[in-house]
Amino acid sequence: MGVKVAKYGGSSVADAIQFAKLKKIVEADSDRKYIVVSAPGKRFSEDSKITDLLYLCKTHIDHNIGYEQIFQVVADRFRAVELNLGIDVGLWKEFEEIDNNLKNGATEDYIASRGEYLTALVAAAFLGYDFVDTAGLICFDERGKFLDEESNRRLREELKRHERAVIPGFYGTMPDGSIKTFSRGGSDITGSLVARAVEADVYENWTDVSGFMVADPRIVDQPLQIDTISYKELRELSYMGASVLHEDAIYPVRASDIPINIRNTNEPDHPGTTIIADISGRNNDKIITGIAGSKDFLVIAIYKNMMSAEAGFIRRCLTILEDYGIPVEHLPSGIDTISLVLSKKKTNGKIPDIVEEMKRKLEPDSIEVYEDMALVATVGQGMSRRRGVSATLFGALYHAGVNIRMIDQGSSEMNIIVGVQNADFETAIRAIYNAFFPKNPEEAVL
Ligand code: ASP
Repeated sequence: MGVKVAKYGGSSVADAIQFAKLKKIVEADSDRKYIVVSAPGKRFSEDSKITDLLYLCKTHIDHNIGYEQIFQVVADRFRAVELNLGIDVGLWKEFEEIDNNLKNGATEDYIASRGEYLTALVAAAFLGYDFVDTAGLICFDERGKFLDEESNRRLREELKRHERAVIPGFYGTMPDGSIKTFSRGGSDITGSLVARAVEADVYENWTDVSGFMVADPRIVDQPLQIDTISYKELRELSYMGASVLHEDAIYPVRASDIPINIRNTNEPDHPGTTIIADISGRNNDKIITGIAGSKDFLVIAIYKNMMSAEAGFIRRCLTILEDYGIPVEHLPSGIDTISLVLSKKKTNGKIPDIVEEMKRKLEPDSIEVYEDMALVATVGQGMSRRRGVSATLFGALYHAGVNIRMIDQGSSEMNIIVGVQNADFETAIRAIYNAFFPKNPEEAVL
């Protein structure tokens, strides 16, 4: 018998109907021994997430505005779940205690964490599993820095004592016992930490999509599903905006070689996407795993005669950006040119000052700023050492009438990034997708 850790996101515990689906899934496989839950999410698009409502309570208290009405909405949603599931975990007592703590100056992290805490109490009773709180198990230092090894040791020791347990996601405690949460979406991290602690065979992450698609379905009509993807490929794609999992959820399971399986609570028979470390056994025909991208990058293009002979030139460029606290996303360069590709939203209107400083300190022959550039990343470990991938990609863009303004390919040879006008973004993604995944397989170039 194996061990699976199953983490259920907000939409999977949004109401009693979703809880019933969760139970059916858990009971269908006795390996699903450790269940990690988020707080209830939206039931429909105009609905509110419980965590958002809890943060709102705290904001009201901080501004001396009555929070009771919002708190009542939270309590009513949990009570409705309790009633509809026909269980009694004494939630009213819990709400009394939370309310008292709120009146007595409870912190924002404490109030935000109560969504996961209450959800885990309900799920444990409903499944007949033990409830194991992460307070005292997931640890942060006094400055709020997550303590990885200590948390792993404590989780491992505690979970050994429970054959089956439900564990709240999102939070742990600081040395003084006060609650500290991860950043938003952090229940994914808890799931990953639990999977590592119990040496799970797989970390299942149940959500409301059946894994990843090769391209964004809002751009490409019915794109293919990705069945397996490596951690490295996922990192490249999520950097470009394809996100389902919290970024920090990867490293605990990655280090222990535990696959992550993204599954859909509303479509439990779908195998979803599996994220693995080693893709050598994967279907070799697969060249491209995914295509992702985002708009609104900005390029500072610098030209200086004999730049390549000037020691420290690039360092001086980067130091100026560092002084302004602006990260560089890409750095394509030529013999006497360098382009600094920046994310526009991270530049905070500082570009005119930066350009002035660069003119003064670098004395370039020319410096130009181009806005409205989109980046499109075509990712796949299968492209390494394979002829024709860039030819196919660039050919597709040429035939679609898209001008390529920048090309960047790392030496890992698993990602080709092209810069195009914002206005060409969607056309570029569709063209690349259709070239590598033609509707009629006979049209496949590679
Ligand atoms: N409930 C928290 C949030 O909304 C954490 C999570 O769902 O993972 O961010």
